[in-house]
Amino acid sequence: MSAKNNLRTIGKTNMENVLKLLMVEKELSRGDLAKRLGVSKMTITNIISELKGHGYVQEEKSNRSTPSNGPIPMVISIVPNSLLTIGVHISFTEITVQLVDVVDGILYQTHARVDNIDSNQQLAKRIRGVIYKVLEENPEIQTKIIGIGITYSGGAETTGANNNFSASQIKKTEIDLKNSLEKEFGITIAIGNEIQGAMIAELVFGKEVGQEKVYYMNASKQIRGGFINNYIIIHGACGLSGEIAHLTVKYDGPLCLCGSRGCYNLYAGIEVLLKHSKCHSIDELHLKIQERDPLALRIIEEYIQITTVVFTNIVNLYDPASILVGGDLTKLDKSIFRKIERLLNERIIYRKERYIKVRMSSIEKAATIMGAAMLVYENWFVCKQ
Ligand SMILES: [Zn+2]
Repeated sequence: MSAKNNLRTIGKTNMENVLKLLMVEKELSRGDLAKRLGVSKMTITNIISELKGHGYVQEEKSNRSTPSNGPIPMVISIVPNSLLTIGVHISFTEITVQLVDVVDGILYQTHARVDNIDSNQQLAKRIRGVIYKVLEENPEIQTKIIGIGITYSGGAETTGANNNFSASQIKKTEIDLKNSLEKEFGITIAIGNEIQGAMIAELVFGKEVGQEKVYYMNASKQIRGGFINNYIIIHGACGLSGEIAHLTVKYDGPLCLCGSRGCYNLYAGIEVLLKHSKCHSIDELHLKIQERDPLALRIIEEYIQITTVVFTNIVNLYDPASILVGGDLTKLDKSIFRKIERLLNERIIYRKERYIKVRMSSIEKAATIMGAAMLVYENWFVCKQ
């Protein structure tokens, strides 16, 4: 690589880092940006003028409350509707497509069916169809779209897949799909599993993730998870860091589809909870808990005990400052996770010196779907080393 290329790469990385920090912090002064990135104020001045030239950032008086006796500081923020991405999320039941702005959130949403797809060619055709629909219905934004993100449910295993194609099939042809869509639309296409996108969505749109170490669990049809540290998502050797569904909670428990025994998802998956409590939906389970139905309470008590064991292991192993819970299960009574928090803090090592909060995501289930659009920023947030 020539020196010129090296310089260009360094410049690009700093620019991306400025945008990333503004995405999560919303507004920062030039001085704060220089301090946070460890670069000179002159470097920040150059980056800001270039980003202003592209129309990505603006500089104005802070909207945040400031000490009444001081001047209101000038801060840099991202211009609304200047960084748009399209997200395509493929679940077991449907394809959801969103147009998402990093400032204003979801601007447009539509759905496509996922049935009658039995080959990856058909899947690619349906994805193309929905992307064209978004572009046709929002003609004014076409030049502002910087990328398309595609995520699908399913990671280490394909449990629960009831359609004819599976996550593992998509994974096998990911590169072909990426190349063909990039050629067709002429912009970046990012394809990946849903949990990393969901974690980026939590960082950008949620209120709970700061710079500290956080373990994130998304408890929906599948239980997924991952680690975030100082706005960086830990990828692991194969992208499976922090996956929680197949942690062994009973060494001689029933066989799991993954080939192991007594996995966490066999006790704490939504389908298992509904089946054992004889409920048809999370809402029904929530109602039965409120009504103090004995069966529902027993099932939830077991969920609390097993989840406490899993969280205790995570905390003892990884030492996060807090645990963040998102996904469908957050619809249940908040007292469930308050009890898990209490039990967890009675069990962890060094419990006298620390207290681990178990917090609920402010964007709950939305993270999973918005995560598709956020996956475009994967290279800024996910540490693959
Ligand atoms: Zn398993």
